[in-house]
Amino acid sequence: MGRKDTSYDALYASFEERIEQLKKLPKMKEESSIEEVIEENGFGRRDFMKWTGMMTALLSLPSTFTPLMAEAVKVADRLPIIWLHMAECTGCTESLLRSAEPTIDSLIFDYISLEYQETLMSAAGWQAEQNLERAMEKYDGRYILMVEGGIPTGNEGSFLTIGGHGKKGKDIAIEASEKAAAIFAIGTCSAFGGVQAAVPNPTGSVALSEVTHKTVINVPGCPPSEKNIVGTLLHYLLYGTLPALDVYNRPKWAYRLRIHDLCERRGHFDAGEFVEQFGDEGAKDGYCLYKVGCKGPYTFNNCSKNKFNQGTSWPVQVGFGCMGCSEPDFWDTMGTVNEPLKDRLYNTTFGGLGADATADKIGIGLLTATAVGIAAHAAIASVKPPKE
Ligand code: SF4
Ligand code: SF4
Repeated sequence: MGRKDTSYDALYASFEERIEQLKKLPKMKEESSIEEVIEENGFGRRDFMKWTGMMTALLSLPSTFTPLMAEAVKVADRLPIIWLHMAECTGCTESLLRSAEPTIDSLIFDYISLEYQETLMSAAGWQAEQNLERAMEKYDGRYILMVEGGIPTGNEGSFLTIGGHGKKGKDIAIEASEKAAAIFAIGTCSAFGGVQAAVPNPTGSVALSEVTHKTVINVPGCPPSEKNIVGTLLHYLLYGTLPALDVYNRPKWAYRLRIHDLCERRGHFDAGEFVEQFGDEGAKDGYCLYKVGCKGPYTFNNCSKNKFNQGTSWPVQVGFGCMGCSEPDFWDTMGTVNEPLKDRLYNTTFGGLGADATADKIGIGLLTATAVGIAAHAAIASVKPPKE
């Protein structure tokens, strides 16, 4: 392979072994290979390798691992997946699949073996219910469970019933979790309860992790980036184990840094150059959006790297601040959308669990300093005449 860095040799060998093991499992999509699917949709080998190179970097692996990433994608159909919809808007599924043109991420989502997915499957009612039971039985202990949506627990869970027998969503989620090899909570609703869990939470909605005793990997966002969803799957394919997680069980490779740390407007924040109101000269010059409500300093996600809409842009790039959608209870805790949190310190405002606690409890002081800095900037900027 011509690799120079030997510190990764053991990892490389373990990935090769894992891929070989996966290759021995029955192929679930007999019709075509992922390469054919990609080619049929107008992508060349070069596009595929570019994409795998990007995913390799996203998972913090050296570029020499890119060929292995490509191999992992090819065996992605060996793992059965059950995707449940609970209390939600289906936005996570929609954002992954409803792009104007297919993306390599969405094609991979089509290629993987989705044994049950209510939005995509043609079966309905009794038949759908039967499909789910059969899939859980057939792949007991082997399938990956992906859950979209919060779990209503109020009134003994009867705010959400699904299928011909009116089974409670909560019971389905518990049963499916019991038999799963790995569990991913897709989107902020499933990871943290989401909008239906916002005050006053009439349905008693909770995160998936609150109804199962098993470990849940949270992939929050409203919606989450498709690369964070596909990347979580590829990570599991390659490692066969859970990724390193932060205190909110988010994979560190995706949620390790703040939106603020990765933001292209950060230089303006540091220089005290803020948009005072939407449409002003500062907005035209791409100044920092903190004073018009950006919650990037309090939010851990990689949106500026992944972007949305086929990788074209992300909210801050188009001039609208981050709303903090990948943080727990952001509907209740992140204040008014277009207003700054000002001098409120994250680690005191949010029940004592500071966002920097996610960085293994290092740097709470740093964040406090940042928040104070924000307050200072806001104060300085408020006496400066706004740019005309
Ligand atoms: S406050 Fe928002 S817009 Fe400003 S630098 Fe931070 S993340 Fe970017
Ligand atoms: S920029 Fe902020 S609000 Fe927007 S998707 Fe990313 S984390 Fe969520």
